[in-house]
Amino acid sequence: MEIVKTKVAIIGSGPAGLLLGQLLYKAGIDHVIIEQRSAEYVASRIRAGILEQVSVDLLEQAGVDQNLKANGLPHSGIEILTNGKKQRVDLSLLTKGKQVTVYGQTEVTKDLIQAREHAELISFYEAEQVQVDDFYSKPKVTFHYQGKDYQIECDFIAGCDGYHGVCRASVPEDKIKTFEKVYPFGWLGVLADVPPVADELIYVQSERGFALCSMRSETRSRYYLQVPLTDHVEDWSDERFWEELKRRLDPESREKLVTGGSIEKSIAPLRSFVTEPMRFGQLFLAGDAAHIVPPTGAKGLNLAASDIAYLSSALIEYYLDGSEQGINEYSEKCLQRVWKAERFSWWMTHLLHRFETESEFDHKIKQAELSYILSSHAGQTTLAENYVGLPY
Ligand SMILES: Cc1cc2nc3c(=O)[nH]c(=O)nc-3n(C[C@H](O)[C@H](O)[C@H](O)COP(=O)(O)OP(=O)(O)OC[C@H]3O[C@@H](n4cnc5c(N)ncnc54)[C@H](O)[C@@H]3O)c2cc1C
Repeated sequence: MEIVKTKVAIIGSGPAGLLLGQLLYKAGIDHVIIEQRSAEYVASRIRAGILEQVSVDLLEQAGVDQNLKANGLPHSGIEILTNGKKQRVDLSLLTKGKQVTVYGQTEVTKDLIQAREHAELISFYEAEQVQVDDFYSKPKVTFHYQGKDYQIECDFIAGCDGYHGVCRASVPEDKIKTFEKVYPFGWLGVLADVPPVADELIYVQSERGFALCSMRSETRSRYYLQVPLTDHVEDWSDERFWEELKRRLDPESREKLVTGGSIEKSIAPLRSFVTEPMRFGQLFLAGDAAHIVPPTGAKGLNLAASDIAYLSSALIEYYLDGSEQGINEYSEKCLQRVWKAERFSWWMTHLLHRFETESEFDHKIKQAELSYILSSHAGQTTLAENYVGLPY
């Protein structure tokens, strides 16, 4: 067995693991990344696309913002379409100049992988049978890699291995509490090389269900439809997708919509999920390993980034200043922000989707709530503050 000694073993090379690795590298802290998939697979996963300002700032701090600055699309507002009418929420005006940036998770991941390769940092891609042990005493990670068995001996393990990862699953049951809500519908997403229907995102509340018009660049669009969980991707030809999207849009957007062949099509179930606490001895959970949000509030990737902001500064404080304060406060600080993002994502989902179980009364109340939010400066400010991201 090959023994490797390091300070921090990071499990998972999604945005959370890669960003943590980059920030530790910048601070001169020794670490390795262990990932079960190939780098190509990780970099090509189509997922999130909206970055809060704090996530952009963190990528800048990590020194991986050159492509983001060149190709990211800053957005100062969003549109909400309800009752056949669009209304703009001016994010910047309502939040003293804050905005969000459209930049795909695939691009964030590629930039981070490239920076890691350039710095020649150690990553074990396609590691098999990854196991984490002894994290209440002397943490160990074992795995099989390129025909050999490995054991990593480290001070800390960062569980950045997503919802289905091994880290959360290794915590003894009596030490962990989870909170979960599963929604009775999914999002059918289509990626297509067609110009976006509008310069800003359009969130659509319609009698036929929710839709979202989003984008990844000026020539690549990402559209979503609320669909029943019983639907399969094969049920949805491109033609059927575009027809249904048109039905949910207003006449002006319908007219402007450019359609084309999909380059990716998938159905994602929607879930809210939180793990408490987020630290177990020398094991920290971060990102989707600790929490999941429905994508309606565009918070998944951003929450992963804010966990890493807390975790990286806690580890840097520990190694450079000898202070354990950040480490001891990690879980509590993250969870305060996590629950606020969970609330916002749940609220946006509840407000904008059709639930089969909702009565006509419930539906009217929701419409009245949305109408109030959009007609009130205070209501719009609440939405905008949460959408651009709460401070940390
Ligand atoms: C289909 C889908 C669509 C999404 N769309 C949006 C969106 O539109 N907007 C939004 O804000 N968010 C979206 N999200 C959420 C967002 O993508 C996640 O919040 C984000 O990827 C979290 O990053 P992460 O690094 O914590 O986890 P992940 O990106 O899941 O990375 C975890 C990594 O750990 C690896 N791993 C897992 N198990 C092991 C193991 N045993 N050993 C080693 N490695 C392991 C995985 O292969 C993966 O590379 C979406 C998520 C999914 C799944």
